[in-house]
Amino acid sequence: MAFESLSERLSTIFQGLSGKGKLSEDDVNLALKEVRMALLEADVNFKLVKDFVAKVKEKAIGEEVFSSLSPAQTVIKIVKEELTAMMGEENTELKLRPQSEITVLMMVGLQGAGKTTTAAKLAGKFQKMHRKPLLVACDIYRPAAIEQLRVNAEKLSIPFFSLGNQIKPEEIAQRAYEEAKEKGYNLLILDTAGRLQIDDALMQELKRMKAAVPVDWTILTVDAMTGQEAVNVSQSFSEDIGVDGVILTKCDGDTRGGAALSIKAMTGQPILFLGMGEKLSELEPFYPDRMAGRILG
Ligand code: GDP
Repeated sequence: MAFESLSERLSTIFQGLSGKGKLSEDDVNLALKEVRMALLEADVNFKLVKDFVAKVKEKAIGEEVFSSLSPAQTVIKIVKEELTAMMGEENTELKLRPQSEITVLMMVGLQGAGKTTTAAKLAGKFQKMHRKPLLVACDIYRPAAIEQLRVNAEKLSIPFFSLGNQIKPEEIAQRAYEEAKEKGYNLLILDTAGRLQIDDALMQELKRMKAAVPVDWTILTVDAMTGQEAVNVSQSFSEDIGVDGVILTKCDGDTRGGAALSIKAMTGQPILFLGMGEKLSELEPFYPDRMAGRILG
C-alpha cells in the first residue's frame, strides 16, 4: 500500500504523550485531522467524513485511555467501532427461498463492473450449497457478454439459458422462469445489460424485467476501484429501479474500500459480497469489521 496507515500516523502524533488519563480535546482534534485524511484517501465520501469525524469527536473527548492501550490505539478503537457500526455491524446474508421454490436474482450494474463474472460466481457458490442454478443471458446487446456467460457456466458445469439477441430481455427472463419450473432449477440468475453510463433506456428495460418475473434480489455490482463513482452509481440504481444488495467487485485491487462505507451509509443498501479476483471462486462475504480495518490501513 502506498498509504501510511492510520495507526502509524497516530502513533507519531501521540509520541511523547503519556499512556494515562483522559483524551483531551486538543489530543482528539489532532488525531481527528489524521483520521479525516485517512478516510478521504480511502475514498470515503467527504460529507460522510465530516459527519463521521464529528461523531467520533463527541465520543473520544474525555474517553479514558485504557491502561492496556496507548492514546493512539484508543482513538483507533473508537474510530473502528464507529466505522463498523456505520457499515451495519453484521454480514447481511443473501437469503434464498426454500429449495422447493424458485429464487430469482437479477444482476445489474454498469458495463465492466463485473456483472457477468459475479453472476457465475454466485451460481457456483450456491451450486456448492446444493442449489440448482440456471444462468440466464439477458444482455442482448453484446454477443460477447452472452458468450462470456456461456463459457463461465460451462467451467462450473452450470446450466445456461440464452435465446440469442433477437428477443427482448423481459421475455427471455420469463421463458427462463418457465424453463426453471419445468426442469426443476430453483435459482434463476439473470445477467442483464450494462451501459458505460446510466441511461434511461437501460433503467426502463430493467424495470420491465422486474415486472416480468418475480425478482427476489436485485443485486448491483459496482467496481470498488471507481471510488466516488461507485457511490453515485449505487444511488442512481437504488432510486430508479430499487436495489436489495450490493456486491463490490475488484476489491483485490489497490483500493482501501471507502466505497463500501459510503455506499452503505448513503444508500442504506447492504454489501453482500466482495469480488476478490477474476477467478470464479474469488467471492467473499462482506464483514463490516474487517472492512473497517482495511479502510484504516
Ligand atoms: P460486466 O460488463 O459488468 O458483465 O463485467 P465482467 O463480468 O465482464 O467483468 C469485467 C472485467 O472485470 C473482466 O475482465 C473480469 O474478469 C473482471 N472482474 C470481475 N470481477 C472482478 C474482481 O472481483 N476482481 C478482479 N480483479 N477482476 C474482476
